[in-house]
Amino acid sequence: MKVAVFSAKPYDREFLDKANAVEGHHLKYFDDPLDLETVDIAAGHDAVCIFVNDTADAQVLDALKRGGTSLVALRCTGFNNVDLKAAERLGIKVVRVVDYSPNSVAEHAVALLLAINRRIHRAYNRTRDSNFALDGLMGFDLYGKTVAVVGTGKIGRVFARIMLGFGCNVIGFDKFPSPEFEALGARYALPDEIGTSADIISLHCPLTPDTYHIVNADSLSRAKRGALLVNTSRGGLVDTEAVIEALKSGQLGGLALDVYEQEADVFFRDLSGTIIADDVLQRLVSFPNVIVTGHQAFLTREAVTTICQTTLQSVTEFETGKPLSNEIASS
Ligand code: NAD
Repeated sequence: MKVAVFSAKPYDREFLDKANAVEGHHLKYFDDPLDLETVDIAAGHDAVCIFVNDTADAQVLDALKRGGTSLVALRCTGFNNVDLKAAERLGIKVVRVVDYSPNSVAEHAVALLLAINRRIHRAYNRTRDSNFALDGLMGFDLYGKTVAVVGTGKIGRVFARIMLGFGCNVIGFDKFPSPEFEALGARYALPDEIGTSADIISLHCPLTPDTYHIVNADSLSRAKRGALLVNTSRGGLVDTEAVIEALKSGQLGGLALDVYEQEADVFFRDLSGTIIADDVLQRLVSFPNVIVTGHQAFLTREAVTTICQTTLQSVTEFETGKPLSNEIASS
């Protein structure tokens, strides 16, 4: 099948080409993200392959359909950027990668947590400048602390398992609680208890209308003073302006983000030579107790290999009329 691959980075090309040696599709790579301005370049392709910040809203899907595209293959887990109802109305199938490496994302969340707690980012910069002073670098023992996992699915459970290994007390919240989470030795708690008792909160639920700005001025005011917040899930879970106020007042003790609500305008490209117009992001990165990574939690060899294989296997299933193992059904 002819597949237009949008937002194609060098690692996408390398790993998709490897996976395609087995599947044999015609892949055409485009650097640009899919949106209303770029959608016309997909004309004549049976499928588009897109990533987290591509836009597949009703207008884009309409244009895709007119151009002959009938499959949207997401090479990621989250699908908040696709209008599923519009896709269903247009007869466009949507597939994603349900399961690749929850370890990749959970381990990155742990890396961010350790770095923000022990101020590794500051120490790294200091020692490169022969500054071996320790002022401002004090963290706390993770052992014995309470960690809240919001969203106890595949990634949340791996994160919970690792934190249990550190000797933390792990509590969780999920709209659909799972016995697997409790079997790890963690327990479920209500949002109020998470607020009052969590020293660390890590977000692992999807972005939905229910979870939009789940971290906001109100929930932050009810959090334990000085708590650390880690978000490797989706930027829209967090009201960034409210978080900035909580950092300024000391209510939030530290913030580690791999995702950011307005990331589509900046992430996945080198803007080091340009002036960033996003004042909120610039304010965030100016705090000594904030670390931002650019949506890289998935970026391990194991994860990207599986993502590319699964994506192209889904394209093959579609081409050969087999049931789509990774189809997202409109609810
Ligand atoms: P999953 O579907 O296995 O788990 C998500 C969990 O969230 C489920 O248990 C679900 O019941 C729960 N949930 C749904 N609505 C909720 C709500 N309102 N409140 C609390 N919990 C709720 O998904 P996963 O594979 O663990 O991935 C989790 C998220 O991680 C994805 O949705 C995606 O946004 C994000 N992600 C980020 C990266 C990255 O590179 N940063 C990579 C992959 C996934």
